[in-house]
Amino acid sequence: MPGFELFGNAERESVNDVLDNGVLMRYGFDGMRNGHWKAKELEVELQNTFQTNHVQLVSSGTAAVSVALASAGVGAGDEVIMPTFTFVASFEAIMMLGAIPILVDIDSTLTLDPKAVEAAITPKTKAVMVVQMCGSMGDMNALKSICDNHNLIFVEDACQAIGGTYDGKPLGSIADVGCFSFDFVKTITCGEGGAVISNNKDYYINADHYSDHGHDHIGNDRGAETHPFLGYNFRISELHAAVGLAQVKRLPEFLVIQKKNFDIIRNELASIPEVEFRTVPDGGVESCAFLNFFLPDLDTVRKVSKAFKTNGVDACFHYYDNNWHYIRKWDHLKKLKSLFPITKEVKEGLQYLEGKTFTQSDAYIARNISCLIKLSWTEEQVVERAKVMRDCINEVLNS
Ligand SMILES: *Cc1c(COP(=O)(O)O)cnc(C)c1O
Repeated sequence: MPGFELFGNAERESVNDVLDNGVLMRYGFDGMRNGHWKAKELEVELQNTFQTNHVQLVSSGTAAVSVALASAGVGAGDEVIMPTFTFVASFEAIMMLGAIPILVDIDSTLTLDPKAVEAAITPKTKAVMVVQMCGSMGDMNALKSICDNHNLIFVEDACQAIGGTYDGKPLGSIADVGCFSFDFVKTITCGEGGAVISNNKDYYINADHYSDHGHDHIGNDRGAETHPFLGYNFRISELHAAVGLAQVKRLPEFLVIQKKNFDIIRNELASIPEVEFRTVPDGGVESCAFLNFFLPDLDTVRKVSKAFKTNGVDACFHYYDNNWHYIRKWDHLKKLKSLFPITKEVKEGLQYLEGKTFTQSDAYIARNISCLIKLSWTEEQVVERAKVMRDCINEVLNS
C-alpha cells in the first residue's frame, strides 16, 4: 500500500517548487508564491480522482474525520456508530468533538454489519461511520438506506481504501462525507495530510472554514477576513501538499502494481480449500492494498502467523493480538485513560464498553490474517512470497 515506497523525482521537484519561493503556507502571500498553490492544485486533482464536487485538504486523516463530523454538525453527546475493527484515530476523532463512538460488530466484509448498525440506533444517534479497514467495504447500499431511513449522516473513513470502488464510484465518495489520510503509510502520502470530500456544498464550506480558525476565505487580505463561526487549525502545509500532488498523479500506476501483486498471492492461496477470502459485496472492487483471508480457527491463525514470521513473510497482521486495530486490546479506551477531564456526556456514553464483549467480531478477527501488498516487490519476490505463504499454511493445516 505505501506510496512512500516509490518516492522519487516527481515528489522532489514538487517540493522544490515550494522551497524556491519559500511560501510554506497554503493561504495568502499571493505575490510571493510565483503561482504555486500546491494545496489548491491537489484539491482539484482529488476532485477528479474521487469524482466528487468538493475537497478540503487538512493536516491528517484523524483531522479529516473530526472536521467531517464537525462540518455535518456532530458534537457533544451525539452518538456515532462505527465498527469494532478500526483504527484508534477513528474513535479519537469522534471523542475530540465530545461525541460518543458506539462500536458495533463487523461481519465477513470486515466492516459494519448492517444488522448491528440497525440494532445500535438510539434517539442520540447522529451518524454512522463505516471504516473501510484494509480497503474493505460493507454492504454500502444497505448502510446507506439505514441512514436514509433514520435520517442519519453517513460517513466513510476511507483512509485505507484509496482506489477501491463500489458500484463504479470511488470509496469515500458514496456517503454524505468521506475522509482520507495521506500519512506516511497510506497508498499515496503527503508525509502527513488528509482530506474531507463531499458533494454537499454546505459541509464543504464548513470544512474549509473550520479547518482554518473559522476564516471565511473571502478576498485576498487574510487580516480582513471574518469568522462566521468558531474554528480550529487543521491546515495542511504547502510542503506536504506538494508531495501529495506528485503522488496523486502516480496513483493509477500504484493501483496497477498493487493489483498485480495481490492477484499473484490470492491465486496461490486460493488453491487451499480452508482459505476463505474476505467478503467483497456485490458491486465492490478492492483497491488491493491488502489481502485479507480467514483460516478455520484462532489456533491455526496463530501458528500460521508464527510460521510466516519464521519464514520471512513480513507485513502480515493478526489483528486479534494487535494493539492498533481491534477493540480487544483497548483498555485505554474502555477505562477512559485521559490526560484531562473528559466531558460528562462522553464518560456516561462510553460506560457501555465496560465488560462488553463482541463475540461476532471476535470470531472474524480471530480467524483473519491481513497482508499488506507492497509496491516495491519485484514479480519474482511476490511469486516466491506467495509460495512460502501457501507452504506455511499447508504445513500448519496438515500438522
Ligand atoms: C490512517 C488512518 C486514520 C488516520 O490518519 P492519520 O493521517 O494517520 O491521522 C484514520 N482512520 C483509518 C482507518 C486509518 O487507517
